[in-house]
Amino acid sequence: MTATARQPGDPTGAPRWRPPKHGAHVDGPGAPARSERPKKQEQEPASDDVIEVAPGVIRMQLPIWMPGLGHVNTYGLLDDRGLAVVDPGLPGPSSWRSLRKRLKTAGFKVKDIHTVIVTHSHPDHFGGAGRIKSEAGANLVAHRAFTTWSLEESDRRNRLPTAEEQAEAERIAAAAAEALDVGGEEIPTIADHTDDYEGDPLRDNPTRRIQADSVPWGGETPWGGSKHPMPPWRRRMMIRALRFLFKPPDPSQRVVHGERLELAGRDWVSIHTPGHTVDHLCLYDPEHGVLISGDHVLPSITPHVSGVGNGADALKSYLQTLDLVAALDGVQLGLPAHGHPFDDVPGRVEAIKEHHQERMQLIVEASHALGPATVQDLSHEIFPKKHWGVMAESETFAHLEHMALAGEVERWTDGSGRLVYRAA
Ligand SMILES: [Zn+2]
Ligand SMILES: [Zn+2]
Repeated sequence: MTATARQPGDPTGAPRWRPPKHGAHVDGPGAPARSERPKKQEQEPASDDVIEVAPGVIRMQLPIWMPGLGHVNTYGLLDDRGLAVVDPGLPGPSSWRSLRKRLKTAGFKVKDIHTVIVTHSHPDHFGGAGRIKSEAGANLVAHRAFTTWSLEESDRRNRLPTAEEQAEAERIAAAAAEALDVGGEEIPTIADHTDDYEGDPLRDNPTRRIQADSVPWGGETPWGGSKHPMPPWRRRMMIRALRFLFKPPDPSQRVVHGERLELAGRDWVSIHTPGHTVDHLCLYDPEHGVLISGDHVLPSITPHVSGVGNGADALKSYLQTLDLVAALDGVQLGLPAHGHPFDDVPGRVEAIKEHHQERMQLIVEASHALGPATVQDLSHEIFPKKHWGVMAESETFAHLEHMALAGEVERWTDGSGRLVYRAA
């Protein structure tokens, strides 16, 4: 579409979206959501531009290769010691090159990074963190529950990969990233007090066993069926790929809800926001009302809520922690991990909650039509065919469990060990 193309239904004289000009700061605070944009903003390719999105906060976009996403926003929080970075992209040499380029544009080098913060355990967020820690001596901050199976793999790495292996590994890892959207831990519900976090070994001290269970392939899903239908050779390649690719992100500082971090010359509060993942962390700057929202609140897509976790209610955690961030005193600006800054955090939270209500309504309708049905059957009713698979099933499972615990659906196990649901 050209800069002057009209969208169908545009009223005469209505402001129309134009493609951003190179170097223009078109998406600063207060930019309206552009729902008429043909491509979701989270899908736009990474921009070369480095822009200041809040006082002392710059946005650097790194390319990622994941379905439905074109970039990840790496935020730089500047102070007189250098900078802290949040979510430094995928593992691998291409992302690393982009990061160095963006830092150079902003007048920094890798060595200027004193802190790296990872919002959650997805590879487009933690991929570069271990390397920054080792090359810059940076403090690596993540939630106390942060875990990736890659921590397990690190000690076995005993030689450096060739350039060819790296390139192949990077390609496979990127393709595999989508599949990493599970965590084997119990999904906690939000606690109002930090004290409530004490003494929960699942959340606070993930064991090797829990880490092993968080591998997204092999084994059974809680609702019956294969966790990931990946052929063994590919599985092996992926494990190899990811083992080669990075310094595992081993946090030097694990934080819990409500801790203060001094970044960009002021205090930020860590906000634990389980739901998308169990270890998801947002950062809030009460002085300026700025929320670094990670994948918890995105401007135009709804984050995946994984239902993996026995007997837990991931969707409840997610909905409750959406309310939590919407209610932050003075919240004015959301800085998401994908897409552009947005200025109505409570409004966006409301829209995401509505989406989940609608999905639950669809499940009820599908259940009435199908009668007793499995997670897979129901997921096929509420997701378009191109999205069928373990992600859709895991999200359907999260909704069904939430509804079961609320007494809105009945659940039982059939003769072959699969969970069956029926709307009450
Ligand atoms: Zn994520
Ligand atoms: Zn993400």
